[in-house]
Amino acid sequence: MYRRLSGRVVIATHNKGKLKEMSELLAPHGVELVSAGELQLPEPEETGVTFAENAFIKAYAAAKTSGLPAFADDSGLCVEALDGDPGLYSARWAGPEKDFNLAMEKVEAGLKAKGAVTPSQRRAYFISALSVVWPDGYEVAVEGRVEGVLVWPPRGHAGFGYDPMFLPDGFDRTFGDMTAKEKHGLPPHGLGLSHRARAFIALEKLCLTS
Ligand code: IMP
Repeated sequence: MYRRLSGRVVIATHNKGKLKEMSELLAPHGVELVSAGELQLPEPEETGVTFAENAFIKAYAAAKTSGLPAFADDSGLCVEALDGDPGLYSARWAGPEKDFNLAMEKVEAGLKAKGAVTPSQRRAYFISALSVVWPDGYEVAVEGRVEGVLVWPPRGHAGFGYDPMFLPDGFDRTFGDMTAKEKHGLPPHGLGLSHRARAFIALEKLCLTS
């Protein structure tokens, strides 16, 4: 039996796109959300070598400094033809200005350099590792993925990060062209579409009351 999440919970992210999505996903669960930004919590260094380790580092640091349970996501885009890059470095590819047009151009340049032109040569997945950590160090961790193909030029202005170049399998619109609701694809209409929504559904089953 896992511990249930209730009361005040910190969302341990300074990323606006993630904060919005995690708030939307947690909204129906009767927890009171406060962001790491609002509490002015410092951002820990992401020294892990896996997404799960980095998610734990962020949630643990926020739980310890706030005295509240904390929820963190570490996520990224893994491109098959680029041996999994940008992967753990997905945020860093956007540079200090957090310019995701630049990051998407780098991905496209990498694909061009590999001669990757057909959809099967341009496969990628998004991954999200979610970690909930309580102040005593107890952790619940889950992971979600969504597979798809990278398109060029990017399409749409919704979402964040690499969304405009990611076409999820079975759809003809990129995440950049989808509303937040479509990108989450939550039940009862869907089974979870985005990596974050899929991880979230796994987490819901373990430690959220509805
Ligand atoms: P980190 O988890 O804070 O290290 O950053 C992950 C990075 O991966 C984000 O800054 C985005 O660039 C990218 N990323 C993660 N999830 C998504 C998503 O849902 N859409 C687009 N880009 C994403």
